[in-house]
Amino acid sequence: MVLSAPGDPRRDLRADCARCIGLCCVASAFAASADFAITKEAGLPCPNLRRDFGCAIHDRLRQLGFPGCVGYDCFGAGQQTVQVTFGGRDQWWTPRIAAPVFAAFAVLRQLHELLWYLAEALTLAPARPVHADLRLAFGEIERLTRAGPDELARVDPVAVRESANALLLRVSELARAGFHPPGADHRGADLIGADLRRTDLAGASLRGACLVAADLRSAVLTSADFTGADLRGADLRGTDLAGSIFLTQSQLEVAKGDRGTRVPASLTRPAHWTGSTPRHRGPRRPAAARRG
Ligand code: SF4
Repeated sequence: MVLSAPGDPRRDLRADCARCIGLCCVASAFAASADFAITKEAGLPCPNLRRDFGCAIHDRLRQLGFPGCVGYDCFGAGQQTVQVTFGGRDQWWTPRIAAPVFAAFAVLRQLHELLWYLAEALTLAPARPVHADLRLAFGEIERLTRAGPDELARVDPVAVRESANALLLRVSELARAGFHPPGADHRGADLIGADLRRTDLAGASLRGACLVAADLRSAVLTSADFTGADLRGADLRGTDLAGSIFLTQSQLEVAKGDRGTRVPASLTRPAHWTGSTPRHRGPRRPAAARRG
């Protein structure tokens, strides 16, 4: 990862499967469910993984019962593990190296996800008071991602996450401050199937909220915090998400959207979001929240 180059470091935190060895398709365990059509033990290759480490059903994952694969993002930890921690693709599959590779990947996946959020936090102007702390945290975690397998094995990702999360929570508060009335607190809320059409959620905390199959069409989501929210099957058609914060590509991939859905500049509209929906008139709440 070349994070010292100018520009947004998130460009180096995107999966590059061509430089990986299908780690997520081997290291992870699956249980047959709505997300995976099969059960698979950790450490065994998925039967759909080709010898060149590509997925044989890549274009039909949803149709063939693997939406869980669509919603997975390694944040570039796969290629980091293979190319940096273990120095290339040639050593793959020797029993001596497989376990340490999987262990390193598990740690790096968590570190890279934190780097993604910290990098986004550094783009948020209201978070300026903590930018120095954010840069410090980013630099320390980025250093860990370049460590060798032995040092990585000693990393406690839970402790690293707790420390970074405290900072990210502060960023969320700063980014969501100043809305009148204040944004709703839906942190960890069960909003499965909720009808939130045209609801004013500006400045809301949706951290860890379960929004499975929720209808968010034309909801107002300026500065709404989506950290860890479950958006499987959520209806985002015609919704403007461009100003929301801490949304990830994998959250979009499992949701429903269309050409009318606006996404943050760091993300891309999923390929399956086709069609268009007429926009609703405006928020249902008479007075939309506004920054004071
Ligand atoms: S279905 Fe494809 S993407 Fe999913 S685990 Fe198997 S090989 Fe990987």
